[in-house]
Amino acid sequence: MLSPRLSLSRHGPSFSRIVAGMWRLADWNLSLAERIRLIEQCIELGVTTFDHADIYGDYQCQQLFGAALQQAPALKQQIQLVSKCGIKLTSSHRLEHRIKHYDTSAAHILASTERTLAELQVETLDLLLIHRPDPLMDYDEMARAFETLRAAGKVRHFGVSNFTPLQFEALNSRIALVTNQVEFSPLQLSALQDGQFDTLQRHGVAPMIWSALGGGLLFRHNDTSPLQAVLAQLAAQYGSSVASLVYAWIMQLPCRPLPLTGSGRIEVIRDAVAACSLSLERQDWYRILQAACGHEVA
Ligand code: NAP
Repeated sequence: MLSPRLSLSRHGPSFSRIVAGMWRLADWNLSLAERIRLIEQCIELGVTTFDHADIYGDYQCQQLFGAALQQAPALKQQIQLVSKCGIKLTSSHRLEHRIKHYDTSAAHILASTERTLAELQVETLDLLLIHRPDPLMDYDEMARAFETLRAAGKVRHFGVSNFTPLQFEALNSRIALVTNQVEFSPLQLSALQDGQFDTLQRHGVAPMIWSALGGGLLFRHNDTSPLQAVLAQLAAQYGSSVASLVYAWIMQLPCRPLPLTGSGRIEVIRDAVAACSLSLERQDWYRILQAACGHEVA
């Protein structure tokens, strides 16, 4: 089974419905050969889109991924790359940062993107996101930085992450955004309730979903959790894994979410791909929502 493809907006881009998240890449302690193999195995599953950020792995993940692309350059033609900027961490790799803060200035957006391209060893990013909303963000300045990167052929598409619907609207009114990458899972339901998904559906823009499995919390041993009990029951009923069931539950939303995987284990990525052909009966979808909320709908 292969991951289908999906256009994030009417302006594109076309991504794999399942996106491989690379936040934890440094934790997986993979050799260069194993990193290349993981990318190849994802591609074999149709998972061709990879999600990065400049800060992942204390600024080291993009270099680890880029080293794999340098060693196996033919992979570059088969994948789409997403990265993010706008967070500055205190780090031994960035001694000039005295405090963790956000920087959405044009100067930082341009400098971070140059660095990301060099680290990933590519000429162009398919999608650049502003990682988090910054109280000091100037939407006109950000849009101008995006236009500069597009004109230079360095980034094809632009989006945001963790923006409120109003913040999304403000930047989207200046330059067409193709996604808002937000947290959503049975353990984090805000995007269903705060107008996030409605705003994106209104614009025909597909959200990307981070921590779709609650960052692994869904699997923490807790026999008393009613949510875990319902997920286990329904997974048995549908003959799927709990992970597949949760990914399917998310993808059933009409705003067309693209879940990001967070594991370096190919079997979890395979579960996410399997979820693309799993459709839950409406009342079963609501059983998960009810267990997640702890009460029935009004
Ligand atoms: P996640 O899939 O919710 O969590 C991954 C964690 O869950 C890993 O520790 C993994 O452990 C564990 N896990 C997954 N499947 C499991 C299973 N079947 N049984 C037991 N444990 C399981 O996703 P995430 O890593 O939090 O986020 C996914 C991606 O979203 C990141 O890589 C990153 O690209 C992106 N992200 C974006 C933002 C943002 O602000 N935009 C924030 C966070 C993340 P194993 O490794 O052992 O499988």
